[in-house]
Amino acid sequence: MSTHIVILGAGFGGLELTARLSATFGHEIDITLIDKNDAFIFGFSKFEIMFGRQRREDVSSYYAKIAKAGVAFRQELITSIDPVARRVVTDRNTYTADILVVALGADYDYGATPGFVEGGHEFYSVDGAVRLRDVLPNVTSGNVIVAVVREPFKCPPAPCEAAMLLDKYLSDRGVRSNINVTVVSPWAIPIPASVPASDAILDRFRERNLSWMPNQSVSSIDPATKTVHLGDGSTLPYALFLGIPVHRVPAVVEASGLAVDGWIPVDKANLSTRFPDVYAIGDVTSAPVPKAGIFSESAGRAVAEHLIVRLREAGTAKPYDGAGSCFIEFGNHKVGRVDVDFLTGPSVVAPFTEASLQGAEEKKQFAASRRRFWFGG
Ligand SMILES: Cc1cc2nc3c(=O)[nH]c(=O)nc-3n(C[C@H](O)[C@H](O)[C@H](O)COP(=O)(O)OP(=O)(O)OC[C@H]3O[C@@H](n4cnc5c(N)ncnc54)[C@H](O)[C@@H]3O)c2cc1C
Repeated sequence: MSTHIVILGAGFGGLELTARLSATFGHEIDITLIDKNDAFIFGFSKFEIMFGRQRREDVSSYYAKIAKAGVAFRQELITSIDPVARRVVTDRNTYTADILVVALGADYDYGATPGFVEGGHEFYSVDGAVRLRDVLPNVTSGNVIVAVVREPFKCPPAPCEAAMLLDKYLSDRGVRSNINVTVVSPWAIPIPASVPASDAILDRFRERNLSWMPNQSVSSIDPATKTVHLGDGSTLPYALFLGIPVHRVPAVVEASGLAVDGWIPVDKANLSTRFPDVYAIGDVTSAPVPKAGIFSESAGRAVAEHLIVRLREAGTAKPYDGAGSCFIEFGNHKVGRVDVDFLTGPSVVAPFTEASLQGAEEKKQFAASRRRFWFGG
């Protein structure tokens, strides 16, 4: 009987792992891939949705279209995970795995920040981006605050990308001169792993009169007075609060006992957890890389290589490199790129390629190649 691999979560990590294993083993393997949603949406597509450039259905890659040897996709809600028995219960079935991989990403805890639910907006969920599409056209003056409530959060450049894209959107509408756009961040620079990328972002901020407020957190917002209360006790008035909410593991992961201090600890070389034959990849882990799709993808790749060596009983797998290329929107149709390598060498390497129209084209190709590899036959 072939090995039964159950992969929980069909995001960047789960899709990459599934595609790699299927490409190697074909019908020799039995993969069950489970996700509660019917489609994958790239994180960066939320910008397209919030600015009304594309609809949810335009940016959705439907799981029903996955055509891969050895792979069964199930659209089900995972309600319990037993990492000792490697048993997973969903709203429809129970699965027992020979090898279990948890790739359930990070969830948001809006309620952790008083006032957020009542008075804030966000573009980190698809629903939040859809709501903003109707809110943004009504913003005509005042302060737009893009604020990271606290670390950790997905996609380090995203808050600054949002500000640079907002600048363009508000300029095109002719209201930019009435509006201040500020990014509040827990960090000293926009992307701590790359000083050159941070310098380029802050140069663009100066050029476009965008404000950068470093080393801050948000303790609450007051919708009655439209005030943001910051961690150091100071306040900011807002017309529109765009918060990056507190991140946490999905509740089902919390209840499983897999997480320690908030996230699932893994062996950084092969992403195994402390439970035999249970692996975890991507945003749901405390692996020493930022939470971003490219690192979830490279973790999926690393676990695939590790499992191929294990199941074939031949060769040696390279340790996880924590590497990937991160695209950054600069708001003028141009896109920059940081090529980050967190784990191969003694220190982080993160050269930056200046924003260009060619960078925008590369980003499109990046997305298209993933859609082909993850969903194609
Ligand atoms: C605005 C924005 C812009 C971004 N831009 C970029 C970018 O340019 N580059 C980049 O690399 N990253 C970017 N990201 C980050 C990126 O989207 C995430 O880091 C990435 O998706 C994480 O991949 P993952 O596989 O770990 O988890 P996810 O992609 O989040 O996948 C987890 C999956 O688990 C499923 N799931 C969760 N709980 C359950 C359950 N109980 N039952 C069933 N299914 C469940 C979810 O439906 C989801 O499909 C961006 C994020 C945002 C918000």
